[in-house]
Amino acid sequence: MTIPFTLIVGAGPSGLLLALMLGKKGIPVRLLEAAESLDDRPRATHYSPPAVYELRRAGVLEDMKAEGAFIPNGACWRKLNGEFLSGVRAAGSNEPTPTPMTCFPLNKLNLVLQRQVDKLPHVEIHYSHKVTGLGQDEAKAWVDVETPDGPQRLEAQYIVGCDGANSQVRRSLFGDWEFPGFTWEQQIVATNTYYPFEKHGFDWDSNFIIHPEHWYMAARISNDGLWRVTYGEVPGLSLDELKARQPMKFKTLLPGNPDPKDYKVVSFSPYKVHQRLSKKMRVGRFVLAADAAHLCNPFGGLGLTGGIVDVGGLSDCLEGIYSGQADDTILDIYDTVRRAKYNEIVDPVSTGNLRLLFEQNPETALEESEFLKMCKRAETDPEVGALQRRAGDALQYDFRQHYRK
Ligand SMILES: Cc1cc2nc3c(=O)[nH]c(=O)nc-3n(C[C@H](O)[C@H](O)[C@H](O)COP(=O)(O)OP(=O)(O)OC[C@H]3O[C@@H](n4cnc5c(N)ncnc54)[C@H](O)[C@@H]3O)c2cc1C
Repeated sequence: MTIPFTLIVGAGPSGLLLALMLGKKGIPVRLLEAAESLDDRPRATHYSPPAVYELRRAGVLEDMKAEGAFIPNGACWRKLNGEFLSGVRAAGSNEPTPTPMTCFPLNKLNLVLQRQVDKLPHVEIHYSHKVTGLGQDEAKAWVDVETPDGPQRLEAQYIVGCDGANSQVRRSLFGDWEFPGFTWEQQIVATNTYYPFEKHGFDWDSNFIIHPEHWYMAARISNDGLWRVTYGEVPGLSLDELKARQPMKFKTLLPGNPDPKDYKVVSFSPYKVHQRLSKKMRVGRFVLAADAAHLCNPFGGLGLTGGIVDVGGLSDCLEGIYSGQADDTILDIYDTVRRAKYNEIVDPVSTGNLRLLFEQNPETALEESEFLKMCKRAETDPEVGALQRRAGDALQYDFRQHYRK
């Protein structure tokens, strides 16, 4: 019996997108998901141009637009009293581009991806299939899986860990605590909240508020008045304590100092945030992508963007091997390139964005922050603005250049 080509662990956005991109190329895929259904928590909302390039290539951008995805007008930085400091317009908000910055809540993206995957005849999704261990030899790799019908061992030529921050694939390869990097001391709370920010002068779609204690982000995430409000909290509080403090936090943070009757919180999730990168993204027949391989705080909007760029590149690598256009050393190039891009772009940008919020004195931020100084220059110099909008493009890398000529 021939060994199946690919098995993907984890049906989050990265696993679903990889299954879709491979499946559309005619490559058979088996996708294993531990949960009974897709994750519905409030997480990614914004996708930068390099991720939009891959979403377009995968053929999901039109469906996303039909479900309410929109191009935000940009991001600005403010003081706690709402005073505007500076801002940067989003790619695609001023000029047409095939890859504009795009806003679309992750739970909706997962559904769009799942619908398209379900139409592909040779892609199988198995829910309630939890990977517990793995192994490999010269001819194949395998995972041990808990299933509703009892334990099973499933084999493939290549197995991709898209199983998120606590990846069992990564832990089995390197050890439970081997995920180099650090965890921020800061506690964050992400909410989805209906509140008319526009009526209080918030005319930018994303707003970052600089303050040593009451730093937060408010970003419009739908066309019907839903905003993502993510704020910093005191470390070490229980879920009940965080919930009890939320009305006080909103009264202090939000423009207009609202009471609970003035807004509607529809989801509330505390998160610890990390900056971590796996030692390798390829070990023999196992490959890691997205959160399984790297984590960053969400204030740069780069977490899933980095993951989607991994997936687009990995789909080209696997297609090259499947079709005989590349040998499997292309996966070593994937490992080197994607880890370098994390170190050069994702980690420093996301770390800088979060530090700006709580370390910078808002009164002197415009004189002291190199980033805000550049935003100020971009307000009057279109060339600086264009460079700033396209800065993330350096995340991209076309692995097809390593196909045999
Ligand atoms: C508050 C917040 C805001 C964010 N905002 C942004 C943003 O604006 N832009 C951005 O780019 N990123 C953002 N991110 C990051 C983004 O949400 C993540 O990078 C993304 O969800 C990771 O996707 P993934 O597919 O790698 O992992 P996940 O979404 O975690 O999916 C992993 C899947 O694997 C499954 N799984 C786990 N273990 C096993 C196992 N043993 N066997 C089988 N299946 C398993 C899980 O059930 C899950 O379905 C944000 C994150 C947070 C917390």
